[in-house]
Amino acid sequence: MTNHSKPNRSELDNFEKQVFNALSRLGDQSTQELDFASRHNTHIKFSKQKKSGAKWTVLKNISLNADSYSIETDPGDLGLLSLVVHEIRHLQQGPLTALSVYGELDAWQVGFRFYRKVSSKPLRKPLEELLELPLSWSRQNLLQAKILMKQYSPGYRIDWYPLYPIHHEIIWWLTHHQPGGSET
Ligand SMILES: [Zn+2]
Repeated sequence: MTNHSKPNRSELDNFEKQVFNALSRLGDQSTQELDFASRHNTHIKFSKQKKSGAKWTVLKNISLNADSYSIETDPGDLGLLSLVVHEIRHLQQGPLTALSVYGELDAWQVGFRFYRKVSSKPLRKPLEELLELPLSWSRQNLLQAKILMKQYSPGYRIDWYPLYPIHHEIIWWLTHHQPGGSET
């Protein structure tokens, strides 16, 4: 077998094209994310990562964990596709929101709702509960989201993130005003 630890540009392009084709075949659940990726010229790459399946980059690209995925992976793999949808959602959010529990709740919900729609496999209980949570600024709700994320993935580094995007978090600490103006 060829050693694909360092795929070349055309192998990467080909893999990426197949991933985006697979997403477009899966219908309107991922249309918004696909449009965003094509408008921003988002590319898919691989890199070593400690605790994540994938990550977004400031250049609006997506990097898959090279220990779990390679160009040998089936580009139609539903777990991989849901990760890509999750990361595109973070790119849509922008970095301040992406680095918050609120942003993660949004991206987990978008990614796993996509997965639930296209896969016949049931989701584990913490995920089903996570999908039931409202995407709201309630801090109690965001704390509950953190608990469920850690139940699902105990090594997940969500504790590093503020509940709100950092600029909103600072306002909350100073004034106890939620984003949008309501007081808690
Ligand atoms: Zn995320």
